[in-house]
Amino acid sequence: MSYQALYRVWRPQTFAQVVGQEAITQTLKNAVISKQTSHAYLFTGPRGTGKTSVAKILAKALNCLHPVDGEPDNTCEICTAINEGSEPDVIEIDAASNNGVDEIRDIRDKAKYAPAEAKVKVYIIDEVHMLSTGAFNALLKTLEEPPEHVAFILATTEPNKIPATIISRTQRFDFRRITSADIQKHLALILDDKGISYDQKALAVIARAADGGMRDALSILDQVLSFGQDHVTEANARSVTGSVTTAQLGAYLKAVHGGDAASGMGIIDDILSAGRDSARLLEDLIAYARDLLVQQSAPKLIDAAEMALLDEQFADLAKALPSRWLYHAIDAMSSTQQQLRATNQPDLYLQVLTVRLSEPLPEVSGATAAAAAPAPQRNDADAATIAKLQQAVQQLQATVQTLSTTGTSAPQKAKAAPKRSGRRPAAVNTNAIYPILEHATRDDLNKLKDVWPDVLDRLAGMQKSMMKISEPVAASPDGVIVSFDNDFYIEQVKSDATLLQDMADGLKAMTGRDERVVLVEQKQWPTVRQNFIKEVGFKKSKQQEQENPPLQPQPAPEKQEPEVVKKITDLLGSDNVQIKND
Ligand SMILES: [Zn+2]
Repeated sequence: MSYQALYRVWRPQTFAQVVGQEAITQTLKNAVISKQTSHAYLFTGPRGTGKTSVAKILAKALNCLHPVDGEPDNTCEICTAINEGSEPDVIEIDAASNNGVDEIRDIRDKAKYAPAEAKVKVYIIDEVHMLSTGAFNALLKTLEEPPEHVAFILATTEPNKIPATIISRTQRFDFRRITSADIQKHLALILDDKGISYDQKALAVIARAADGGMRDALSILDQVLSFGQDHVTEANARSVTGSVTTAQLGAYLKAVHGGDAASGMGIIDDILSAGRDSARLLEDLIAYARDLLVQQSAPKLIDAAEMALLDEQFADLAKALPSRWLYHAIDAMSSTQQQLRATNQPDLYLQVLTVRLSEPLPEVSGATAAAAAPAPQRNDADAATIAKLQQAVQQLQATVQTLSTTGTSAPQKAKAAPKRSGRRPAAVNTNAIYPILEHATRDDLNKLKDVWPDVLDRLAGMQKSMMKISEPVAASPDGVIVSFDNDFYIEQVKSDATLLQDMADGLKAMTGRDERVVLVEQKQWPTVRQNFIKEVGFKKSKQQEQENPPLQPQPAPEKQEPEVVKKITDLLGSDNVQIKND
């Protein structure tokens, strides 16, 4: 006999069997008993939370020949036909595949006729948000004057895409994510029924990965069972879900909080090279950090079912990691999560995250610190160390700033140095950038782009990781401008004197020239370029005019590109230059 997927075998057949949606099932049952059901329902909620299962149960309850206390008996001929999908009066439509107006028009026409066998004709429209506007309009017409013997059950994961006119004509039920405890209980029930033993932790791992969806939980359990039918182990559950042990998560947070980026990277490498998914890893890390915060403030709130996943070091870590740091870590990890969605280099972003988390926290101003919730219980030794580190970083930043401004000559525009506090938009160092742009050529840039990967290859691992999100944007014989797509890390790179020197050395080795590397934040680059064209470009063209006044009337001045435009076009490529005559 062929294997049947668990979620089919264990699909609930009565309201009572539905897991985790008690409020909804009780309300529907009462409505059936008191014969106060509606003509139109809207079931919303995440996938796998029981919307279509409940829709089918409701269809049976409305039509069952021998209902018991609002529940279908599942034995009469109508129930049997509905369970087999052969009942002509219960019509299931998947809007994801049938989104045409014609389908709904068909409903309008046919809904008029009384049901052939059942008491109530039930239309179940799944993924209803996929209907076209025309189809919605047709549906609305039917909902405005529904025939007596018809019920519509609309199900969707995206209620925000449903027209308000439709929603207002339905009774809406929001299906919740099923709690981890409920999912685990149900998995245990199934395994007990099959006579299969299990580690409780394995069920917790599956429930967490399923994220509130019973269907996902059952599919994962199916896969875990395919490893072996006699016992469900935590290790197998982790391999299927790609989730990481809490021991690894704890070790990672401990390492980066202690400023040990190298160990942090090592742990990440181990996890990823074991085939774990980087997005999953981040989710697990965030969940673990969140649990630590809960443990600090309200340990009783931690789901007893989740607790099964947490190990001995958890309590110690909750004492050791200050809440302020945990908030900061969760922020950083969440923004990395966003970045992962848009990149095909997830490892890189995880490495950068590791570096960032290994840094001491930016200092909070007195007022903010006072306003911030309970002061972190940091001991004096920690505080002293952090203060010392922060001082060192500030000194380094100041040194690098001076070095890069005095690289060519003394600063020409001695503007008051902006106070570098925390991480505001990176200051643009025009004194270093403009001289390079003045002599930059397309040719130099192309040559630089050729060797840039080799220059990066020479860097140490962590530095290489950070610089991978850089891109050369301009080059002259004595300097290069590199754009960097992250305002936080650009400060880090700018203040890393060794890294800057290593890159200069690399360039010298590849090109034989002494070239300075100047960094610019990617989103600032277009403005910097425009400003250069405005400020320096036109000054130069005027100078040239004065130095070489035209001896004879020029043939057709408009047709000839001014020298500066030619120069800039040469430098930046014609696509990037817009000439405005004003
Ligand atoms: Zn029945």
